[in-house]
Amino acid sequence: MARRKKIYEGKAKTLYEGPEPGTIVQYFKDDATAFNAEKREIIDGKGVLNNRLSEFFMTGLAGIGVPTHFIKRLNMREQLIRAAEMVPLEIIVRNYAAGSICKRLGLEEGIALPRPIVEYCYKDDALGDPLVSEEHIFAFGWASQQDMDDIVALALRVNDFMSGVMMAVGIRLVDFKIEVGRIWEGDFQRLIVADEISPDSCRLWDIETGRKLDKDVFRRDLGDLADAYTEVARRLGVLPNTLTEAPKPKLVK
Ligand code: UDP
Repeated sequence: MARRKKIYEGKAKTLYEGPEPGTIVQYFKDDATAFNAEKREIIDGKGVLNNRLSEFFMTGLAGIGVPTHFIKRLNMREQLIRAAEMVPLEIIVRNYAAGSICKRLGLEEGIALPRPIVEYCYKDDALGDPLVSEEHIFAFGWASQQDMDDIVALALRVNDFMSGVMMAVGIRLVDFKIEVGRIWEGDFQRLIVADEISPDSCRLWDIETGRKLDKDVFRRDLGDLADAYTEVARRLGVLPNTLTEAPKPKLVK
């Protein structure tokens, strides 16, 4: 049997050549990293949860007309996605202050922001993904003005969708990060949501208790990361409540 070709290995995912041209198989690993990979650990089951959760969010987004790279889930850890030319930016949307914006602007964690704030970081591990402005993005040709208009519109639609979905299950969407890729349809370029949307790339707080249900559990040693992600998946109905209870055998007459 031919061995499939690895295209790229990242911190939490590996990409393999897909079965058709223009497709990629995205494999979710159990590796958790933080602080630019200075802290790392294997969290059993994280890849399976993120594969399911990213499928859930991307499918929901497609349902409201937001284009994404997701084609279909292949198995517990893999999904088939569209190959896209990645824009080298992390697009962050913030509804409440947390993480780097608190340090940068001296804000108290958890305060509601006056409006959703969209920020951009240049994707470069060696530089620690620095914050950049549209001036940098245009000057260095990472994206055009038209691209940025589309990217902001996409990011805000993802924010509204994700905020609503989370609110419905008692979770506050504090902030999140997306990545965007270009695909070509004839002579036309379209920007689509790519990479993943999961508790690895969002801040999610229980509305009642403030319990953190995202990667901050790992970053700040707040408990079991897989438990937190399982709770998100369970509330969203992505995992049955009874996952741990094996189904009873049925008598066949
Ligand atoms: N984020 C991410 N990948 C990164 C940086 C940030 O997914 O490389 C997410 C992070 O999980 C959070 C949001 O983007 O939901 C904002 O992160 P922030 O800028 O506060 O950075 P951090 O405090 O995580 O360093």
